[in-house]
Amino acid sequence: MTSTYASPPAGGPAVATPAVVATEVSKVYGSGDAAVHALRGVSVEFARGAFTAIMGPSGSGKSTLMHCLAGLDTVSGGRVVLGDAEITGLGDKRLTLLRRERIGFVFQAFNLLPTLTAEQNILLPLQLAGRKVDRAWFDQVIDVVGLRDRLGHRPSELSGGQQQRVACARALVSRPEVIFADEPTGNLDSRAGAEVLGFLRSSVREMGRTIIMVTHDPVAASYADRVVFLRDGGIVSEILEPTPGTVLDRLKSLER
Ligand code: ADP
Repeated sequence: MTSTYASPPAGGPAVATPAVVATEVSKVYGSGDAAVHALRGVSVEFARGAFTAIMGPSGSGKSTLMHCLAGLDTVSGGRVVLGDAEITGLGDKRLTLLRRERIGFVFQAFNLLPTLTAEQNILLPLQLAGRKVDRAWFDQVIDVVGLRDRLGHRPSELSGGQQQRVACARALVSRPEVIFADEPTGNLDSRAGAEVLGFLRSSVREMGRTIIMVTHDPVAASYADRVVFLRDGGIVSEILEPTPGTVLDRLKSLER
């Protein structure tokens, strides 16, 4: 199944080149009778400066697609282009470098280092890469995620929501071209989840960031500008300006 969905205009100023383009991406796990076709020729564009959610029933290929888009897994066929760089076909070393320099990640597990303070955790990727800290940008990120009075705390002294905000600030501070978020609110209660989603959206609207988020939660998806729906390894539908209701209805119709 092949489907092509052009990117919608982002909320901010229109920018021509998409942040990420997948063309006819396929992914097969295993071989012979045991082969699982997790992605079947997915073509999709993700606009720069937009917040896009990827949804679909369990097993539809959401995680596989995210991993292929972010260079965390290889594709079986097709191309993935990040900005001006084709990432499919890059060797391990160049891929690792590209991920480190150009992509930010937020996972369900916060993955913070327990012995470091919030500020040290946020700055660690920049330090590991030998890059200078842009203090004005750091301050802007800290204000958007609301962590100003928690910077000296260690993860164990922070709530789950605060820890995920630290993880988001860590992803934002190096100004990656794209942030991939994999079920970022999966470990949070609904209030903390709403806070995290609120500032992910603010980082797109106010700071021009690009976010691609995998989620199974219609409320989380409603924070995005656009939702693309997968079923059986193919993109089958999309919604612009989603609400929890429109997302839930579409999901139900896909699960039938
Ligand atoms: P989702 O994230 O939508 O739940 P996944 O991308 O995890 O879906 O999985 C898509 C399909 O690929 C499923 O049928 C799943 O069982 C299969 N799959 C995912 N990862 C592997 C793997 N490492 N080996 C074999 N099959 C896999």
